[in-house]
Amino acid sequence: MSGAAVVLDRDGTLIDVVRDEETGFVGVAWHPSQVRILDGVVDGLRILSQAGYSLAIATNQPAPAKGQFSRDAVLRTNAALVEMLAREGVVVAHVAVCMHHPKGGPGGDASLVGECPCRKPKPGLVVDALAALGAAPERSWMIGDSPGDVTAGRAAGVRTGLVFDTKRCELCPLRGGPREAPDVHAPTLLGVAERILALGAGT
Ligand SMILES: [Mg+2]
Ligand SMILES: [Zn+2]
Repeated sequence: MSGAAVVLDRDGTLIDVVRDEETGFVGVAWHPSQVRILDGVVDGLRILSQAGYSLAIATNQPAPAKGQFSRDAVLRTNAALVEMLAREGVVVAHVAVCMHHPKGGPGGDASLVGECPCRKPKPGLVVDALAALGAAPERSWMIGDSPGDVTAGRAAGVRTGLVFDTKRCELCPLRGGPREAPDVHAPTLLGVAERILALGAGT
């Protein structure tokens, strides 16, 4: 457990949310064709990787528990993202997924309904990702776009970065108060990565 890792949230951090033009409904990608990598992600991941950080994804995907779409849809979408990044020369070494939901929903997979140790803001996914990569928490980071990512990272003992898009004021890093403030924040993943590297590289 001596390596350095950056664990990344998926939706809103690496890829865009999906907006239905007709209904205005905002959801998450559930098919490879919906995967849109956000600005600054490829460049940000490249510089982190070049500095010696292993990369992992830690994502809450409760849709199978809620009966919205299948486990396979989640796994295929994650695989498509990993493959798109690989084509850009970025290696994601591990994907940790929580498909649980405390309450579930109509038609949901009952085996996924209930409290679990992995759903962010709990630290389970981040802890799993660090273990899979052999990374030491004190040398590692969690990057996400919501306060729950920051809370999960802190609980796992890593430092935290927030991708904070000023258009999403409900997610302002200051709303949760100083206790929830991330160590670094910037409008894009590239900006967050540059701030992390300014604090000292992973190797
Ligand atoms: Mg997110
Ligand atoms: Zn879980």
